[in-house]
Amino acid sequence: MNTSNQKRVAIVTGGGSGIGLAIAEKFTQDKIETVIVGRDEEKLKKATSQLGPLCHPMICDVSNLASIPALIEQVMSKFGQIDILVNNAGINMKKDFTEVTDEEFQQVITTNLCSVFAISREVVKEMLKKGSGSIINISSMAAQYGLPKVIAYSASKTAIDGMTRAMAVELSPKGIRINAIAPGFIETAMTAKALNSDPERKQKVFGRTPMGYMGKPDDIGEAALFLASDAARYITGVVLPVDGGNSVGF
Ligand code: NAD
Repeated sequence: MNTSNQKRVAIVTGGGSGIGLAIAEKFTQDKIETVIVGRDEEKLKKATSQLGPLCHPMICDVSNLASIPALIEQVMSKFGQIDILVNNAGINMKKDFTEVTDEEFQQVITTNLCSVFAISREVVKEMLKKGSGSIINISSMAAQYGLPKVIAYSASKTAIDGMTRAMAVELSPKGIRINAIAPGFIETAMTAKALNSDPERKQKVFGRTPMGYMGKPDDIGEAALFLASDAARYITGVVLPVDGGNSVGF
């Protein structure tokens, strides 16, 4: 919880729904000016009316990499600073390995990985000017396990973990902390889609989650707020599982 009255500005990609919305809610509750970025104007409007005046929608398809510098310029001209970036927007694709086309593989990689690089690069240019900042990448347990039928998603999230570490060693000496959160199985539209059609996987998820239930988007919101805050000032380069023990469950 922030105790100072200093202005803080955050960007949360994919902030209109699910985990991103929960993160944006925690941030606005902590008095952080929060820009939520997404493609769907209606969804962003609904989120903005739910979260109140500290929430600011900006339309951008982050897989359109050429549009990213203008997005960050827009944030800078409106707020004059960026203190926190949460790279949360992502897509999943569940398909047999041999059925995945090059175009589909590329689409997942562009959305989940290339956009994270491009947005981070533009934001880091601004953070370097003031010598501080916190970037949080939303990874996945799919980066740590061999999950069947999510080849592009797993590749993208494993790369996110590597990029988190590489960015942390390069940028932490300059005052910018980089961390990732690896959500376990969290109740959102994305997991409902992935699990409801696959009872065997659902059984496996619960079988190896010591806490015995799925997490809520809010659980990721709490972790993101902590990592973004000064309370986490000596934490950089970590991939924090928020998973009810799923990653250590047998
Ligand atoms: P979600 O589908 O509810 O949210 C994803 C958000 O990203 C949506 O608002 C979507 O519109 C946005 N988005 C997708 N592509 C975009 C694009 N090209 N441009 C702009 N916005 C785009 O899913 P979620 O479960 O909340 O997932 C959020 C993040 O958490 C993802 O990165 C996902 O991989 C990760 N994750 C989720 C779980 C889970 O259990 N739900 C587990 C591990 C990791």
